[in-house]
Amino acid sequence: MTDRLKGKRAFVTAAAAGIGRASAIAFAREGAEVFATDIDDAGLASLAEHGIARTAKLDVRDTAAVEAIAREAGTVDILLNAAGFVHHGTVLDCSDTDWDFSFDLNVKSMHRTIRAFLPAMLEAGRGSIVNISSAAGVFKAAPNRYVYGATKAAVAALTRAVAVDFITRGIRCNAICPGTIETPSMLGRAAALGPQGREMFVSRQPMGRLGNSEEIAALAVYLASDESAFTTGVAHIIDGGWTL
Ligand code: NAD
Repeated sequence: MTDRLKGKRAFVTAAAAGIGRASAIAFAREGAEVFATDIDDAGLASLAEHGIARTAKLDVRDTAAVEAIAREAGTVDILLNAAGFVHHGTVLDCSDTDWDFSFDLNVKSMHRTIRAFLPAMLEAGRGSIVNISSAAGVFKAAPNRYVYGATKAAVAALTRAVAVDFITRGIRCNAICPGTIETPSMLGRAAALGPQGREMFVSRQPMGRLGNSEEIAALAVYLASDESAFTTGVAHIIDGGWTL
């Protein structure tokens, strides 16, 4: 399929790698004009070969930078919030600093971008916001995902709150809750567990494999497009049966 997002303008955070990158590329393939951002310049530059010419360095932890780039971007139809960090450990491993960092990057970043982009969406009377949450924390308690799970549950709650507050004004807000997806950071977490790390992640998957970023991007396209016009405030699970 093509042109499912034709005529739409999309803004994507954490677009240089993994789920954000695959979503930005899928949006462009479906005809959207994509503004891709990340802290990784080189990763952003390589998006040009996928038809994404507009990129900018953006640290989603920087409120002033988020506000400035929203002014620069103008009105967008789609806001995809993908930035997130996985802290490994239990409550006993999570210092105040760890807690604050995870909440700042995983949750407050979405508060920042939504606050910055929503006013123009409201003026236009339309907009689809898609927040990347996780199956962990929302649908399942995963070992050693103490603060990560807490942040992703907060993302799901924030998503519903935005959805209900602006449902009469043309705004939709949905969350995507992936299971274990083969991305650069996920492979890094697997490697940190040792040579069997990747297999350990695979073994908990009833389908016998990890997900890939393109499979998450396909859901992001659906939620960004008018095909999902009757869907808002939902945490959409996509996990290869992990939580069954
Ligand atoms: P990733 O963790 O590898 O990171 C993707 C990008 O985030 C990188 O390009 C990185 O430069 C960027 N980034 C990091 N800090 C940033 C910041 N402060 N500002 C802007 N960009 C920043 O990619 P991923 O594994 O695809 O994760 C993307 C999202 O999906 C995260 O929110 C993650 O929690 C969520 N998620 C991932 C999985 C998985 O198994 N990979 C599962 C569930 C949810």
